[in-house]
Amino acid sequence: MLGRRVVVYGGGNTAIDMARTAKRLGATEAIIVYRRTRERMPAHDFEVEEALQEGVMVKWLSTIKQQGDAGALTIEKMVLDAKGNPQPTGEFETLEADSLVLALGQDVDLSLLEGVPGLQIKDGVVQVDPATMMTGHPGVFAGGDMVPAERNVTVAVGHGKKAARHIDAWLRGTTVIPTAKHGAATFERLNTWYYTDAPKTMRPQLDLARRTSSFDEVQGGLTEDNALFEARRCLSCGNCFECDNCYGVCPDNAVIKLGPGQRFEFNYEYCKGCGMCAAECPCGAIEMVAEQV
Ligand SMILES: Cc1cc2nc3c(=O)[nH]c(=O)nc-3n(C[C@H](O)[C@H](O)[C@H](O)COP(=O)(O)OP(=O)(O)OC[C@H]3O[C@@H](n4cnc5c(N)ncnc54)[C@H](O)[C@@H]3O)c2cc1C
Repeated sequence: MLGRRVVVYGGGNTAIDMARTAKRLGATEAIIVYRRTRERMPAHDFEVEEALQEGVMVKWLSTIKQQGDAGALTIEKMVLDAKGNPQPTGEFETLEADSLVLALGQDVDLSLLEGVPGLQIKDGVVQVDPATMMTGHPGVFAGGDMVPAERNVTVAVGHGKKAARHIDAWLRGTTVIPTAKHGAATFERLNTWYYTDAPKTMRPQLDLARRTSSFDEVQGGLTEDNALFEARRCLSCGNCFECDNCYGVCPDNAVIKLGPGQRFEFNYEYCKGCGMCAAECPCGAIEMVAEQV
């Protein structure tokens, strides 16, 4: 039971999540105590906004100095110095709390890996070869929050994908040969007028009244139709998406269609190097290369 007034100490996304969760679990008041200002809070601004809408309160420029008896917290007022770091002021006040939740950081539970030969743990995370995600113990791979990297879902999913390829290769006794990457298609190489403008799709938002009494998603996802529509915003920079422009504009019939998903080939016996295909490619996927004589 969290109690009527829950105080959360911290300032990141976790603190915001904690306070919003406390509200959903029945706390009358959820108060975040944070040392800096809103501008300096390491949380997404839309999440801060949603929390405030849900009635979460924030004591900005404040730190918890001491926890006394009967839930009395001593709060010290802070000021930001020239570098934006919080400094104590010596001004105190008392804040009564039924529960205090610390949202000051996250540690990984590495007990599972204790004693694994060759596996190295440094600064609370498992060391891996960043190219393969393999730890110092052959055949043991790691990724996500437990390796040195940014801690977010995108990074964790990327690690999973990379590790999966290397695990597969390791089990087969082979190595992953990365596919060659083409150079960056800079903005000048795009023909943006081929693309139409479309307003951004708005994601559905749960009514404020329903938010604090349920754990339903606040920002809904896109429907399949809308997601496909949004995906069409992609300018496909440098990646042929088979629009057939090159095929249509080539005066020499030098562009050969290889079929859906296979893109095109150029017949250099016919090509006179006019460059129409490259100039008219919407996504800068064709590069003109000087002929070797
Ligand atoms: C409150 C909070 C809010 C966050 N908000 C965001 C956000 O808005 N956006 C964002 O991108 N990231 C956010 N993150 C970070 C994000 O959740 C993590 O970076 C991401 O989940 C890491 O993925 P992971 O697979 O490494 O670990 P996890 O998602 O933690 O998955 C590890 C899994 O392993 C299981 N496990 C642990 N030990 C064992 C064991 N011995 N045996 C079997 N299973 C075990 C755990 O139960 C868990 O299911 C947030 C994190 C927190 C805590």
